[in-house]
This record gives sequence, C-alpha cells and structure tokens, in this order.
Amino acid sequence: MGSDGKIYKNNVILIIIFILFAELIDWVTSFYFSIKEVNSYLIDISVTLIFMVFVIGLFRGMKNTADELQDNKKRLKSIFDTLDVAIWSHDLKTNTLLITSGIEKLYGYSSEEFYKDNTLWKKVIHPEDHHVLAERETGLSRGEAVTSVYRIIRPNGEVRWIQDRGIPVLDDNGNFVDFTSVLFDITNRQESEGRYRSLVEMSPDLIAVYSRGKLDYINEAGCKLFKAENPNDLIGKPIADLIPAEVLAHIKNRELTIDENFEEKLWFEFKASQVDGKEIDVEMSAMPILYEGRMAEQIVGRDLTQRKKAEKTIKYMAYYDVLTGLPNRNMVRKHLNAALKNGDQELAVLFLDLDRFKIINDTKGHRVGDLLLKVVASRLKNAVRDTGLVSRQGGDEFIILLKGLSKEEVIEVAERILGEFSDGIVVESQEFFVTPSIGISMAPYDGQDEETLIKHADTAMYLAKERGKNNYQFYTDQLHGLSSRKMELENGLRKALEQGQLMLHYQPQVNLETGKIIGVEALVRWQHPEKGIISPGEFISLAEETGLIVPLGKWVLEKASAQNKAWQDKGCSPIPISVNISVRQLQEDRFVDTVKQILADTRLDPRYLDLEITESVMQNSEKTAMTLTQLKELGVTLAIDDFGTGYSSLSLLKHLPIDKIKIDKSFVDDIIHHANQGAMVKTIIDMGHNLQFDVIAEGVEEQEQVAFLMANGCMIGQGYHFSRPLPLEAMENLLLNNSEHKGILR
Ligand code: C2E
Ligand code: MG
Ligand code: MG
Repeated sequence: MGSDGKIYKNNVILIIIFILFAELIDWVTSFYFSIKEVNSYLIDISVTLIFMVFVIGLFRGMKNTADELQDNKKRLKSIFDTLDVAIWSHDLKTNTLLITSGIEKLYGYSSEEFYKDNTLWKKVIHPEDHHVLAERETGLSRGEAVTSVYRIIRPNGEVRWIQDRGIPVLDDNGNFVDFTSVLFDITNRQESEGRYRSLVEMSPDLIAVYSRGKLDYINEAGCKLFKAENPNDLIGKPIADLIPAEVLAHIKNRELTIDENFEEKLWFEFKASQVDGKEIDVEMSAMPILYEGRMAEQIVGRDLTQRKKAEKTIKYMAYYDVLTGLPNRNMVRKHLNAALKNGDQELAVLFLDLDRFKIINDTKGHRVGDLLLKVVASRLKNAVRDTGLVSRQGGDEFIILLKGLSKEEVIEVAERILGEFSDGIVVESQEFFVTPSIGISMAPYDGQDEETLIKHADTAMYLAKERGKNNYQFYTDQLHGLSSRKMELENGLRKALEQGQLMLHYQPQVNLETGKIIGVEALVRWQHPEKGIISPGEFISLAEETGLIVPLGKWVLEKASAQNKAWQDKGCSPIPISVNISVRQLQEDRFVDTVKQILADTRLDPRYLDLEITESVMQNSEKTAMTLTQLKELGVTLAIDDFGTGYSSLSLLKHLPIDKIKIDKSFVDDIIHHANQGAMVKTIIDMGHNLQFDVIAEGVEEQEQVAFLMANGCMIGQGYHFSRPLPLEAMENLLLNNSEHKGILR
C-alpha cells in the first residue's frame, strides 16, 4: 500500500464519456441551426429525423454501456470481496481513496477504520519489519513498482505475512498522481518457505546454486567452507574459481543413469579452492534444478579435512605406535613379509623385551612408564641407525628388523643396543635402570615366514631372560617347541591350578653364625605332566598379567601355612615360613581377610607366617600402607624381597611396618666381583639395622660372601651355598635335624 491515495478508474471513464457526450450535443445543435438559416424545410425535417434517430440510437447505446459498466463494477466488487486480496487505490488528484473489502480479512480491521485513518496500515506493521518502508519509498519515488514483504500484527495479536505490490503513477514533474497497492496474505507460503530457507541456511553442509557458470546462491556453511565473509563475496563469481574445471565438466556430462552405483556416482571428492587460494578436501554432489526460472545446478557438499585427517590418523595408528612414533607390529610384519617375498637374504628379527619395566610401570605409574618407553625407543633407533627398522609391539616389547647383515653384523647391532642401556634413564629427575633381553632369529635358517621368525625370536628372548637378562640370544633348534609357550602357559596354568599340578619347594634361611635354619621360603613349582618341573620365573609374571596370581597365590599361602603347621605338629622347632606375595595380590580388597581365614583354617600361629613383598609395592599409595598395617595387626611378619632392585628409599620403608629386608642376589653376587658393590651391601646392612630391620642376604653361593656378610653384621643368609630349594621330604628331613649343634648347613 501507499500513503498517497488511489483512483477509481471507472469514474474517470464515465466522466470522460459525459464530457464527450456534451461536446457532441453542442456540435450537432449548432450544425442544425446553421442549416435552418440557409434553408429548406424538407432538409430541416429529414436532418432532424436523422439526428433524432442518431441521438436515440446513441442514448440507447450509452444506456447499454453504462448498465454494462455498472454490472462489471458489481461483478468486480464481488470478485474482489471474495478474494484474499485487498486493493488500495488512491487518486491523489481528487484524493479519492478506495479500499476493497478484502482488507478486512487480511488485517482484521474494518474498512471504515482504514478510511478513517489512512496511516493505519503502517501502524500495524511488525516493528522488526519497519525497515522495509524506506526501501519501498525509494523505489516508488522513482516511479517503479515495488514488491515488499512484511509482517503485520492483527488486533488479536496474530502475526501475518503480507506481500504488498505498490504501483505508483507519477506525472511529468515526478509528483504522485495515482497510487495502487495490491496486498496478499502470504503467511502460509512464507512459513513453508521460511522452513526450507532456514533448513538450507542452517544446514551444516554447503548448499549452493550456480547457473551459466556463476554462483547464484550459497548458504552460510558454504561461505565458511570457502572462507568467504558473506555470501555476497561469492555470489556472481565464476564457479570455476572454487571448483576445478574437470569436476564441473563431470557434473555437466554425467549420466544420471540409475544403476546400483547411482549414489556413488553422484558424489565427487576433490580439492576445492578457498577464496585465499588454499585447497581443501571436499565432497560434493550436484543435481540440476530450476532456479529463478532457469536451469541451474544445485550442489551440496562438505569439508572433508577432518575426515581426511581422521583417516590419516587411523592409517597412522594402523601402522605406527602412537606413543613412541615407531612403526608398530603391523608395519614390521608388512616389511618382513615384503622382504621375504623379495627373497632378501640375511634377514634378522630381534625380539626385545625390557627387563623390570613392569615394576616401574606398576609402581611409578603409566605416565613415567610411557616417558621411559619414549627414551627407550630413541635409544633403540640410535643403536640400530639406518641398518634396520625398529618397531614397538606393545607394552615393553620391541621388534627390530635388520636386512642384509651378516650374523657378525647382527651381533654388533645387538651389542650396540645393550650398550645404549648401560646408562640409566632419567625421567622426572629419577634415574631408572632398564635393560633389554634380546632374542634373535635369522632367515632363512630359523624360519622362512614372518610368523615363524617372530615366534623363534620371541623364544630366544625367553632364553635371554633365563640367562640373566640384559643379553641377547640367537634362536637354536634346541629351543624349538618353546615358542608358543606363552599361550600354552596361560591355558596350562589354569589347568595346573585346577588339577593340582602346583607344588612347593622350600629353601632354608640360615643363621650364618650357627648354621641353624631359622626360616624357610616356600617357592612354587609347576609339575608339568609332560615338561617336568617348570620354575616360577617362567610363569609368575604371566600369572600376574592374567590375574591368575590371585588364586595361585592363595593356594601357595594355604599350602605353606598348612605345611608349616604340620611340621610344628611333627615336633620340628617352630620357624616362620616365608611366602612370596605379588603386588596384584596385595591390591585385592579381600587379601587381608584371605590371610586371616587361612591362618584360622590352618591354625598356624601368625608369627610363623612371613610375607615377602617386593620393594615395588612401597611407593604405592596409602592403601598399601594400610593393608600392610592390617596384615601386621594379624600378627604376621613382613619382609621386603629383592631389596635394592626397586626404587624405594630406605627412609620410605621407615614409615611402614616392615620386619626385614632381603638384599637382592645381584648385590650379594658383587661382593666377590666388585669391591664397590661390597660397599653397597655394607651400606644396606647398616641402614637396615639402623631402621631395626632384620637383614637377610639372598643368593649366597660362596663362603667368601658368608664371611663378608658376617663381617658386616648380616647374620642371615639364603642361597645355594646352604641349600637349593628342596622338595617337601628333603626339607622335612633337614628340619627334623635342625639344631644349632649340628649346623648341617654350614
Ligand atoms: P625370590 O623370592 O627372590 O626367590 C629366590 C629365588 O632365587 C628362587 O628362585 C631361588 O631358587 C633362587 N635362589 C636362591 N638361592 C640362590 C642361589 O644361591 N643362586 C641362584 N642362582 N639362585 C638362587 P625361584 O624359586 O625360581 O623363584 C624365582 C622367583 O619367583 C622368586 O624370587 C619369587 O619372586 C617368585 N616366586 C616363587 N614362588 C612364588 C610364589 O609362590 N608366589 C609369588 N608371587 N612369587 C613366587
Ligand atoms: Mg622371595
Ligand atoms: Mg628375591
């Protein structure tokens, strides 16, 4: 609508007709009288008659036209009244305003209200849409027809969308002479359009339309994808600036044949150009549409950068170890396979496992463990240089693949690796000593396929572990059959527990001065039906890994306690029995209860049960301290096993209810070989005594060591020098003869 009024055209037409009619009468009258003046009566009569006929005819015609007009007017009015359209017409010359009754339906106000206040239409416009008026005014003042869309608020508060087409008529001086406005209610259309528009606008995917090589429309997501500030930066631009020509050609020429690959054919993956020229991975699909009356292509697409990145990561993770950045097991296997297929001669597979890593990981936490592994990875790379591929298998296991090296050269690499670990690794200002055990298999002698070579290197690695760790071993045929031991072990161990294949051996702990047995350590053995006796070194860590240690450890506790009680019942002088307890067992919530129950069941006096725990549990939380205290309260004694190999300090032990420490065999060994280490043992003994712990030396093999220990105040020893771990009967015999006087163990 417009404020400047409207015209009632039919009135104008009638006025014009009347003016013409008046002119005609004037002219006919003057003609008639001039003839009369000159002339004949006859002519006069005939002319009068002709004129009469003419006038009558004319009047009849006039009457018909006026009636028709009246009818048309009525019909038009009824049409307008029934339409959901309102017309507002203002003849500004005569200031005649005409509003069709449709306005009432549209606005909810009566026609009278509009006639009374011809600015009412403006007042009901939604405040947010007032800006439309200014744009509208500008167009109209130029004499252009303007279509505006705005919301109005009805008297009942209802909001409707109105499309208003204003048609101005200007005179030569540019003044409004006439104004007509046609108004529609487009609420329904607007709402559904709005829904679609917001779907398109808000879509996280790019949606764009292009025709004749230029971009016609692009949504927000599209702007973002191409890094444009707003759609206007892109609209009108050649689509070829954004999408490569070959893709556009493909879109143009594609055959939209419907087959099973139809979906795939619709999507293209390519690199699109952003406005700054940067290329990004995108995926798009295109389909022809009719847009603003012409054929266009609508494209839908999305940024693939993240997905590509994820794909890369997944690929990376499939072939690389995320922690160390080293190739992983898949990669090394791939390489090994390729090399074998290639017929590469002289392939060596080094299977490397870190000694004692598990302890560090358990006690210092995974973070320290991870940092340590990173250092290990770089040391390994250092040692191997460019002679091979270093990979991490998982945990503390690494596989190194060496190509084209002779056995001697492989040895050199293995030596270099060991050399790399002679210095401790400092992590978070603590120094850790980790060493590797390395097993080596060589193609084609030790295997011709990837599986066998790795399995054999693994087997050789176990041999290295058995041979004191921190060394390398080549696979030999004698090792054959040991390989799948780990898996076999796990299954076998379960069976062993169920079928009673476990048994205990006992090793005496001896008073160095008197030679009297003052304790025994229970050491588990696995009596394998085919393989014979298997030592705990081979299955304890596996039992720990799998959790089997919990039932296994419980069995040992029961058995040892019952046995000790049985010896006492047989008249042996009562001595404590030492049982090894794994960290994993201690962490069990019910551990204290288990011990308590066993003591009750076996009726063993708690002071004759000694629990050996490794130093590694020491750093573990307050919870461990509490467990130890509870155990102490039961009346059992506590010993720290393998003392010196863990990472706790003596001062830490001070706060724990510990009774004794067992100096690790490695220190005891060095008494003879290195004067230095002897000093270490001495220090440990002194400090232990200061803290009022009993001190036991483990792995005593030589008389010399006994002398040194005694000279330095350590009065208890355990080791082959006195006795190897013994089966039940042998131990029992010793115990039955156990007296200070006999001193059989010296
Ligand atoms: P450990 O508790 O330090 O036990 C001492 C180990 O050193 C025993 O090995 C023993 O046979 C060996 N040994 C003793 N004296 C000498 C010696 O003079 N020279 C040498 N070369 N070795 C000596 P074993 O019985 O093979 O046990 C190895 C480890 O297995 C034990 O070390 C202990 O940590 C673990 N273990 C044994 N039985 C159990 C058990 O029932 N439960 C748990 N959790 N661990 C156990
Ligand atoms: Mg022990
Ligand atoms: Mg020990």
